[in-house]
Amino acid sequence: MLSIRNILARARNVAANSVRKMSSCAAEAKTKVVHQPPSLLASLGSLLAVISTALIFFAAFRNTLTWHLQRFWGASGDFWQSQWDRLLDTFGEDPLAFWVFGTTILTMAVYWLVGGIYILLDVTNRPMCLRKYKIQPGTNEPVDKPRLFRVLSQVLFNQLAVGIPTAYLSFSLMEWRGYPPLRELPTFHWVLAEMAFLILIEEFGFYYSHRLLHSKNLYKIIHKKHHEWTAPIAVTAIYCHPIEHIFSNLVPPFLGVFILGSHLATSWLWFCLAILSTLNAHSGYHLPFFPSPEAHDFHHLKFNQCFGVLGILDRLHGTDTVFRSTQAYNRHLMMLSLLPVREAFPENTKGSSKKNN
Ligand SMILES: [Zn+2]
Ligand SMILES: [Zn+2]
Repeated sequence: MLSIRNILARARNVAANSVRKMSSCAAEAKTKVVHQPPSLLASLGSLLAVISTALIFFAAFRNTLTWHLQRFWGASGDFWQSQWDRLLDTFGEDPLAFWVFGTTILTMAVYWLVGGIYILLDVTNRPMCLRKYKIQPGTNEPVDKPRLFRVLSQVLFNQLAVGIPTAYLSFSLMEWRGYPPLRELPTFHWVLAEMAFLILIEEFGFYYSHRLLHSKNLYKIIHKKHHEWTAPIAVTAIYCHPIEHIFSNLVPPFLGVFILGSHLATSWLWFCLAILSTLNAHSGYHLPFFPSPEAHDFHHLKFNQCFGVLGILDRLHGTDTVFRSTQAYNRHLMMLSLLPVREAFPENTKGSSKKNN
């Protein structure tokens, strides 16, 4: 009989032999791997596998996100389609009436409803609690009335005498290039994609037309009017020479609509967003939860800085270097609390903030 010690010794030998065999196999395999370069096809295969896995994850994430948004839109999408149907049923389906007069009425309504609220703030100098959000305190507190009336009459002239013929011309261009039927609203995804494009095209159109208006002669003849207000108020957004109104205010937002052949409803949504954006940019108030109006306010104050809407082309062309060295740049963010931005970034602490680069 084998003693327990012998059994243990034999088991140790067997185990040691197996480990030796395994490690020699592994070494062989390793040698094979090292000495045999992977084929181009294999490399491409693994690269493809990595990319496709990443793409699948990205697509899954993106689709989940837009699926949720689409679901939200779908629930309300029927609502919007039925409202749109009602509008068409009520006013008929004359594209000219919708594109020209519908657009004029809608954009004027948005301009004067929101602009009117800002006028009330500036004329009454109330409520007091909003004074602390003024970008240039002490200016237009309250606003000079004769100056305000000059703005109102010029803006109305631009909207009616310049805006309606331009809208008519725009409609002729849309008819020439073709546009989707009025009745069917576009999908949520398509509206989202178009909005991104429209915003970029407007940045391009506004930046270059605006810079051109700052050339010596054009500035003197045309753009000086808009710059009478070094501390602007909301309704000065389209207080300008009629030529400037066409080429800087109307053409840039329309350009993308024309290129894409956007649906009228998308165009209306876009024009309303553009109006709200420019009213905010000229308002003179940096309100909490509103996009920052600091850059365009700075443009009115200093004339030769911040020509664009988004700031992308200003950065690219270096037309924001002075702006970026000031406290106004540190304040150029959306405030997510009720704290006034002037208190968050006081004048004397320039350089202590996070964005000073
Ligand atoms: Zn302006
Ligand atoms: Zn300007």
